[in-house]
Amino acid sequence: MDTYDLVIIGSGPGGYVAAIRASQLGMKVACVEKDSTLGGTCLNVGCIPSKALLESSEKYADTKLHLAAHGISVSGVEFNLATMIGRKDKIVKQLTGGVAMLFRKNKIAEVHGHGRLAGREGALHKVEVVDTQGQVSHTLAATNVLIATGSKVATLPGIELDYDKVVTSTEALDWQAVPGHLVIIGAGVIGLELGSVWARLGAKVTVLEYMPKLLPSMEPEVGQTALKLFGKQGLSFQFGVKVTSAKPTPEGASVSYQDPQGQTQTIRCDRVLVCVGRWPNTDGLQAKEAGLELDRRGAIPVDEHFRTKVPGLWAIGDVIPGPMLAHLAEHEGIAAVETMAGQPGHVNYEAIPNVIYTHPEIASLGKTTTELDAAGVPYKVGKFPLIANGRAKALNETEGFVKIIAHAQTDRILGATILGARAGDLIAELAVAVEFSASAEDVARSIHAHPTLAETVKEAALDVLGRVINF
Ligand code: FAD
Ligand code: NAD
Repeated sequence: MDTYDLVIIGSGPGGYVAAIRASQLGMKVACVEKDSTLGGTCLNVGCIPSKALLESSEKYADTKLHLAAHGISVSGVEFNLATMIGRKDKIVKQLTGGVAMLFRKNKIAEVHGHGRLAGREGALHKVEVVDTQGQVSHTLAATNVLIATGSKVATLPGIELDYDKVVTSTEALDWQAVPGHLVIIGAGVIGLELGSVWARLGAKVTVLEYMPKLLPSMEPEVGQTALKLFGKQGLSFQFGVKVTSAKPTPEGASVSYQDPQGQTQTIRCDRVLVCVGRWPNTDGLQAKEAGLELDRRGAIPVDEHFRTKVPGLWAIGDVIPGPMLAHLAEHEGIAAVETMAGQPGHVNYEAIPNVIYTHPEIASLGKTTTELDAAGVPYKVGKFPLIANGRAKALNETEGFVKIIAHAQTDRILGATILGARAGDLIAELAVAVEFSASAEDVARSIHAHPTLAETVKEAALDVLGRVINF
């Protein structure tokens, strides 16, 4: 039996980053991964491949539709899907190989196989690693075990996934031909991002959403603006619908749903993408046998330092309650191992940026006005439209706005939303501001280079103070 200070189960952004930080802190670490490559959902079938395809399809759409405005004529613009998919695969291979290299550099033992909790040996927790034949190939023992087993695709009753015509995001990142008509179930992050990819490449895209409107948990104007913009890009939406079945047919696929009037409707299409959320993954982990309780959604409850109810067992990332985001999993992993090392590991849940990588991007952070109204917190709002920014004009990227919410008395920034080009990069400044408890005036008085999109953030901060200059 190999003995470690820490065994991590799962090598996604939560697990692999925690492994590196633990090694930096002097721990002897092993990381168990059931797949043949490291990096988890994020690197293999999530954040990275989806962004690779978003960038390629965006370049195609931009060349075809928007270069003329700059006085550039192009004709015969075509794309080669095999090359696009190949480029995406190459990026994934480079990055997952990069994690393996980082493991070697940090002397982290990389163990492949299915990890499961296997009781105790004195003060140590045991983890068995099971190979593809179902045999225990290794038994590891450690003072601490960090569960970073991530999440899996959620489904609905009546959905017959065949992973060809009725698919999850994993298959929709690998199609070798553009579907003629793609029906997407769920207008969440995956629906909007992958819907954008395939609509840009020529698919007719119909999105069916259970909720009555788009992105209901964000600032109210986000859903309205995004709906208009995505509509222009060829995505059509139906809200307030209840999908009752989706199944492959000899010709393609068919989806049935109840419309808001209670009438049953059926759409025949070429492919169906099911993206109605993800569930925490504890499959085959023997979590209950190890004394862990799962919540209603199957997540492992933890305290603010990522300790489970069993001493020595910790959990982070998509497998615990809360938002499912790669950067959050990373920070939770770091905080958990720093706590194990006796340091004050901490995650500030008020400063987590959330980005949807559509065009334009949609980024948000902290509290919304709706949440503050409900909590009775007094606030002020500052807003600045991209159309009033010189760089946005030069880029021909004038859709959208920056909205900053600050406390009415203290001016401390409580929340922000950016809908516009590069919103995912621009929100980083506000994440730092919230982390440092900055006021809107702090941001407004910081010098932003001219002419940049970042000036829209400064102007929105000035608007909180009633001192906007360029609008
Ligand atoms: P995961 O990345 O899911 O990793 C868990 C790992 O554990 C996996 O490698 C799995 O094989 C392994 N594992 C599970 N059980 C066992 C076991 N018993 N033994 C051994 N190994 C095991 N988030 C963002 O922040 N930005 C994005 O742009 C973004 N885009 C996304 C796009 C798509 C299409 C999808 C599906 C998700 C996206 N996400 C994005 C979400 C992001 O991928 C997850 O939040 C993140 O990967 C969670 O990290 P994690 O380490 O908790 O789990
Ligand atoms: P999601 O939770 O973002 O969206 C699911 C959508 O499906 C919601 O709008 C929901 O109302 C809808 N829905 C639920 N049941 C339905 C039904 N019966 N019929 C029709 N619609 C229904 O989930 P997702 O898009 O599947 O993404 C999964 C996770 O992956 C998310 O938690 C997200 O955080 C993460 N992710 C993040 C990014 C990013 O950060 N850019 C990108 C992709 C995925």
